[in-house]
Amino acid sequence: MTPPRIYLDYNASAPLRDPALEAMLRVLRDVPGNPSSVHAEGERARAELGLARERVAALLGAESDEIVFTSGASEANNLALASPGPAGGAPAHLLSTQVEHPSVEQPLARLEKRGWRVTRLPVDPEGLLAGDALEAALQPDTALASLLWANNETGVLQPIAELGGRLRARRVPLHVDATQLVGKLPLDLRQLPIELLSCSAHKLGGPKGVGCLFVRRGFALEAQLLGGSQERRRRGGTENLAGIAGFGAACALAGRELASTGERLAALRERLWQGLRERVPRVRRNGSAQAVLPNTLNLSFEAASGELLLQALDLDGVAVSAGAACASGSLAASPVLLAMGLGADAARSSLRFSLGPGSDAAQVERVLEILPALVARVRASRGSP
Ligand code: PMP
Repeated sequence: MTPPRIYLDYNASAPLRDPALEAMLRVLRDVPGNPSSVHAEGERARAELGLARERVAALLGAESDEIVFTSGASEANNLALASPGPAGGAPAHLLSTQVEHPSVEQPLARLEKRGWRVTRLPVDPEGLLAGDALEAALQPDTALASLLWANNETGVLQPIAELGGRLRARRVPLHVDATQLVGKLPLDLRQLPIELLSCSAHKLGGPKGVGCLFVRRGFALEAQLLGGSQERRRRGGTENLAGIAGFGAACALAGRELASTGERLAALRERLWQGLRERVPRVRRNGSAQAVLPNTLNLSFEAASGELLLQALDLDGVAVSAGAACASGSLAASPVLLAMGLGADAARSSLRFSLGPGSDAAQVERVLEILPALVARVRASRGSP
């Protein structure tokens, strides 16, 4: 009998949780109406939408009317960055970092082509951004700062409350990509100096293809998808009601489990790191070990290709990631690790382990059992990075 697979790639996508699946099935089966219709069927659909909106808002510490449902975090990031600054205003200055997700980096690059100036701040070897550097980079016409809160590859957490405080003091609005943080750590947008925040259902046990942009009350955001008055005219198009209901159910569950799961996963993650450190020579941990998500461990295995290690683990039933999932299949070194000062070889020898609610001690022990030999084999085969 083949042993069950071990899934340690929650940062790429987390398996759908049962309450999310049940909410989706219920809506698909029993809620035929369009939330914009006035009849009873429409009313029922609107109620489902409202419930999900409340659940998502509750997890974020937001008000319901601050949630704009989107097709995921990529769309939320694109929406946040589509037309920064005052409507119809001239191109100005934007502030970001060298370690952003491509769904922030590419909209920024497009704005640059249209005449905007973009400062991409460096991070230190731990992956952290310095508040003083952020403040020093502000310009009189900085229209927006866009910062990744939890890095998808390393799990490193930026000190967003502090950075946002400095920005607010200078009246610069802040967009935060919190896709990897929401559902893994608590947050309360009532207490945070953040105007816009992106997240995604499938990273926290909801379905793929749905997410949201938090837009603080009073913040003017120009719609990109035109053609309907949905989402308070900030995103036209009939809502993905089943997906949104699944997102809401996943948020409600994540909110209940947050504290206990976080501690459990951090303990498992440390066991994995300590075990590998004892068993595998020349392995290093990438990114801060303190300011990091509880579930993420990014390691470089000197003189072994991360891509080959990933394939070998996959054949042995373990799913992990080399760099970001979006970049897998390409041999390019991770720009995030390069920005932290790793050499190209060290960056190409990296693996990301990301745990989740389905992870347990037996799975970690199994990885500790098989990975040392795989590393030795890949090194011996000169499958260098
Ligand atoms: N931002 C971050 C930090 C991510 O990890 C991801 C998912 N890889 C995204 C944005 C994009 O999210 P989605 O898959 O919902 O478009």
